[in-house]
Amino acid sequence: MIATQLSEQVLTELQTLGLQLTNQQTGTPARQGGAGPTDHKAVRIDGSTTIMVPVFHETSRRSPYSASPPDALGVAELFRDGELLGVVQFPTQPRFYGQNTSDGIPFWKIAQLHSHNVLATTLLQNCIRYNDKETSCQFCAIGESLKNNRTIAYKRPHHLIEVTRAAIELDGIEQLVITTGTPATKDRGAKILYETVLALKQEVDIPVQVQCEPPDDFRWFQKLKDAGADALGMHLEAVEEDVRRRIMPGKAEVNVAYYMEAFEAAVAVFGRGQVSTYLLAGLGDSAETLINTSRELIALGVYPFIVPFVPVRNTPLAHHPTPDQAFMQRVLAPVGQMLVAAGMTSDTLKAGCGKCGACSTLKSFETKTSRLL
Ligand code: SF4
Repeated sequence: MIATQLSEQVLTELQTLGLQLTNQQTGTPARQGGAGPTDHKAVRIDGSTTIMVPVFHETSRRSPYSASPPDALGVAELFRDGELLGVVQFPTQPRFYGQNTSDGIPFWKIAQLHSHNVLATTLLQNCIRYNDKETSCQFCAIGESLKNNRTIAYKRPHHLIEVTRAAIELDGIEQLVITTGTPATKDRGAKILYETVLALKQEVDIPVQVQCEPPDDFRWFQKLKDAGADALGMHLEAVEEDVRRRIMPGKAEVNVAYYMEAFEAAVAVFGRGQVSTYLLAGLGDSAETLINTSRELIALGVYPFIVPFVPVRNTPLAHHPTPDQAFMQRVLAPVGQMLVAAGMTSDTLKAGCGKCGACSTLKSFETKTSRLL
């Protein structure tokens, strides 16, 4: 039983500074390489809240946070500068990881457990932007897990159907997040997401969020919805033009105005709050930009999932600093309040990263605001 209540300050610091773990502890599931919260480990805080905490990057090796070796249930003591703060729990290896697809691929190479109840996959493990440093997103490690044979290049619909069924049955998975590297087609991945979701939803009943860049033709949104997608993520990552050009030169070719048009069209199909975007705090956008952009997005019906940028090994930004806890609080507190005022909190989302919430403490700021009302 985990009963520790940790303040938002501690949770936000844990997500930005990371956690020092011994070799023994990193033996329990942690994500290395790939898209999403790479080099992170899920940490259960109080029996109900799970956050993804960086454990493999340079900052975490110098973090004031450390943990004792976990017991058989994964329960460990959490320390800050050697002072005991409470207990946390590291989820044990999901049972579905022990199985293979009908064509012999280990399930863990098809999809991974995120947080404690989310199954996540990267449909195409390649991206048109990735292999050229003139175009690649500087924070991205999508090719790392493929290079290290920890995944396959394309997950076929039957792969996902088999894994999702097992993950629901064996590990109580409650939602599926499907992201993709961007292919060299104008639909920017919408077509392959459509085909996958269409096949999957005929076989498995689970809320699904799909994630891609804005396609050339917004009619893809209705097709994705009709195929069974419950929610859509299109990720801005950064907002200010100079930051976008510097951090993601290829993706910056799709300008913010086009994202805004796409958001409006997508909300008309999926509904308010069921369309979301990632904003990576700490890459250069000012707090004002992040707050003002979030206000604009919320007015459109888009959930701004603001996460602290954490550098990933073997990427050009591997040595980039993480944002400090004060910066994160300055941004997340007002955005949490805006989301509560708009009735568009994490718990109203059907699926996706915003619903999971483990990569940010935004959700805890929403909860805090709701309690004060
Ligand atoms: S917020 Fe998204 S990327 Fe992070 S753990 Fe949850 S599902 Fe995975």
